[in-house]
Amino acid sequence: MLTSIEGKSVLVTGASKGIGKGIARVFAKAGGKVLVVSRNGDEAEAAAEEMRAAGGVASGFSADVSDLASMEAAAAAAGERHGGLDMLCANAGIFPSAKIEDMDVAEWDGLMATNLKGAFISVKACLPLLKGSECGRIVLTSSITGPITGFPGWTHYGASKAGQLGFMRTAAMEVAKYGITINAVLPGNIETEGLAELGQDYKDGMAASIPLGKLGQVEDIGYAALFLASKEAGFITGTTIVVDGGQIIPESLEALQEA
Ligand code: NAP
Repeated sequence: MLTSIEGKSVLVTGASKGIGKGIARVFAKAGGKVLVVSRNGDEAEAAAEEMRAAGGVASGFSADVSDLASMEAAAAAAGERHGGLDMLCANAGIFPSAKIEDMDVAEWDGLMATNLKGAFISVKACLPLLKGSECGRIVLTSSITGPITGFPGWTHYGASKAGQLGFMRTAAMEVAKYGITINAVLPGNIETEGLAELGQDYKDGMAASIPLGKLGQVEDIGYAALFLASKEAGFITGTTIVVDGGQIIPESLEALQEA
């Protein structure tokens, strides 16, 4: 049994939908006071309202992770509304597809600004308040794509997600003196609203490449993040948890089918 996070102040970026909303929901259900952050403030507030309706403490805030002043305002809001900040889940990310030959430099820069610079900015903006916590925790949402696997059209995405881990390892050393840990969850294929729109055939095709035979749910990432944020995970820092139903294991299609 993990120590409850009841009353802890939690900021989740990219939490109006998808994985971030799943993380926020898990933390709110566990008793955290959650600031739901996304650029669209109405959507962030609507997601927070769902969490309140389920008995949680949550409110929305509009901020852009690629902008330091914007994220400093988000951190300040978490501090004012919830009496400080204990946990940051830096989850916001985008994944437009473009092959190298078709990608212009602005597309590369735009993705990096959200996924890689956004992780740095989120941590930088929240650090002053996290330093005041008894058990500061940072959890990044990376991906299997980049750190472990590749997918045509996602050179920029894969580089950003692998880059987050390079950032994390040195950050872990810098924030250790404040008793803060930083780790990353690496999701495989997770069922989000965006994926649902692609239809059942697409989802079935993706599920067929996963040994556990199904896509992950957003809460699966939330539970891994909740563990990394727990008191009991206090000696774990600078490392990763893969949450992918075994997707990275098969060394070939034959290996997958053989089982
Ligand atoms: P999603 O459903 O598209 O949701 C993305 C969230 O991020 C939204 O709340 C969006 O709201 C917010 N966001 C985007 N840009 C932002 C910015 N600049 N500042 C603040 N918020 C921003 O995405 P998802 O599939 O849940 O993915 C979430 C994270 O998981 C990403 O980092 C992604 O790379 C990672 N991941 C996803 C999967 C998967 O299977 N879905 C697998 C591996 C890793 P606004 O547009 O209103 O800002």
